[in-house]
Amino acid sequence: MKRKRCTICGKKFELHDMFAALCFEKQIGYGSVHDGETFNLNLCCDCFDKFADILNLICKKNIFE
Ligand SMILES: [Zn+2]
Repeated sequence: MKRKRCTICGKKFELHDMFAALCFEKQIGYGSVHDGETFNLNLCCDCFDKFADILNLICKKNIFE
């Protein structure tokens, strides 16, 4: 099986990145300008931490529970 790469930094997934499985794939539907496209994000643990912290800054509700 081909090892995934992190979408942000391009690093090949290491074992702990594969176990964490921070991969998101979603078909985008009507209402979005990306209607018909597929959202595809594979994150290594380091980039997930950065991405989630940045995302959390623009959210009203804390995304971490
Ligand atoms: Zn990364």
